[in-house]
Amino acid sequence: MRSKLYINGEWVDGSGTMPVYDPSDGSVIADVAIAGEAECEAALTAADAAAVAWAKTAPRFRSEILRKAFEIMTSESEAIAKLISRENGKAMPDARGEAAYAAEFFRWFAEEAVRTPGDFRKSPSGDKRILVTHQPIGLSILITPWNFPAGMATRKIGPAVAAGCTMILKPASETPLTAMYIVDVMERAGLPKGVLNLVLPEKSGPAISKMLHDKRVKNLSFTGSTEVGRVLLKEAADKVIRCSMELGGNAQVIVHDDADLTVTIPQLLLAKMRNGGAACTSANRIYVQRPIADKFIAELTKSMSAFVMGRGTDATTTLGASVSMKERNKIAEIVDESIAAGGKVLLGGVKPSGEGAFYPATVLTVDKNNPILNHEIFGPVAPVVIFDTDEEGIALANDTEFGLISYVFSASLARAIRTAEAMESGMVAINKGVISDPAAPFGGVKQSGLGREGGFDGIHEFLQTKYIGVEI
Ligand code: NAP
Repeated sequence: MRSKLYINGEWVDGSGTMPVYDPSDGSVIADVAIAGEAECEAALTAADAAAVAWAKTAPRFRSEILRKAFEIMTSESEAIAKLISRENGKAMPDARGEAAYAAEFFRWFAEEAVRTPGDFRKSPSGDKRILVTHQPIGLSILITPWNFPAGMATRKIGPAVAAGCTMILKPASETPLTAMYIVDVMERAGLPKGVLNLVLPEKSGPAISKMLHDKRVKNLSFTGSTEVGRVLLKEAADKVIRCSMELGGNAQVIVHDDADLTVTIPQLLLAKMRNGGAACTSANRIYVQRPIADKFIAELTKSMSAFVMGRGTDATTTLGASVSMKERNKIAEIVDESIAAGGKVLLGGVKPSGEGAFYPATVLTVDKNNPILNHEIFGPVAPVVIFDTDEEGIALANDTEFGLISYVFSASLARAIRTAEAMESGMVAINKGVISDPAAPFGGVKQSGLGREGGFDGIHEFLQTKYIGVEI
């Protein structure tokens, strides 16, 4: 198991170590190296030194490294899934899903690396030729969260490699081991030294702030909370560093009265319970139309009661632990506040005693003003609100500062598309619980972020457009 920093193609010790815990029982999995100022500076020096030569490499060369990385990740997917499950707590079915999803970003960007189109045309006045090309933006800082420690890393490393950028990866302090595994995969796939570096600063804030004020840094790709995203946008403003921000969500679900519940319930369970609800895409605010509300709530509660809570790596577990006691306690506090404000518990709702960062599958019915609707829950908690007209449902769903993803369920495609078009979110899923796909643009509007990852847009987060005007 890799547990050191990776700088200029070497696995190195840092200024000390930090424990990584198994959230199922609080035991220490490994002590990992942490980066002091010297290691952060060494990573900047290495990524800067490699930048010019790396940007000039042939797209096919970069593509083949990514393809090889995809093959390594795929052949080692079970080991990767176990590591994800151990340090993050998620159940193995979720961890396996993430390992496969993460590898797919390397396959997709291996294909994208060789397909970046430019443009050549005559100006409207005929006075010149307009030539448009895309060049690697340069040294990029990649910051990832704990909830998808593999997927969020490959979603950034893949396009950065494809575009020809060098990188410094800073994973979440709760889950650095998976990131280290992925860096090791890239090394084995033949990535030249200095192109990808991994640091784990003892204190993220000051270390990243310093990097964002360093003229060698050209780009920031951040995935995490809106709160931290706001801070980083302000930091990046001083040197006008380009930013891509994948931030928090508080996904809305609209279940219309004509929805087919045999489709809706299993898909909604995916939207709610994937990763134990610790997903930016998690269905957090469920609005159901009154004529089918009783049946929907009864079926949802029955299905949620089937989840088996336990250690992520146990074969029977379908609901693992949260990443830490701190995160688990946040979930419990949000539910307790909701109950105090009139929320009615139909399932779960009680924090277990004993070791392990566990919280049970929970269903609540709440009114439209309940405070739970203002929080990104990040846990297995499903608050349900009943609405009457389509217009009311849409207005309630959009009443949030977030705008990452919405879910719409209806047997009428026309009605579902009308509702989808009215949703203030970067993504809408119709009659489907998971739509994340490396081939599709992932990202939010409002305070859920700026930019897109994956799809045809993803590589452009690491490219800058250059216009060359030619007298002919
Ligand atoms: P977080 O607290 O914002 O942390 C994310 C990353 O930022 C971690 O690596 C963290 O490092 C680092 N960080 C924290 N404070 C920083 C600072 N002042 N300067 C620089 N870096 C800093 O988020 P999280 O709790 O790990 O992840 C959950 C959040 O991520 C949720 O809001 C979720 O919705 C969001 N998310 C969004 C997407 C998306 O695609 N939109 C995907 C997944 C998750 P440390 O661990 O060292 O603090």
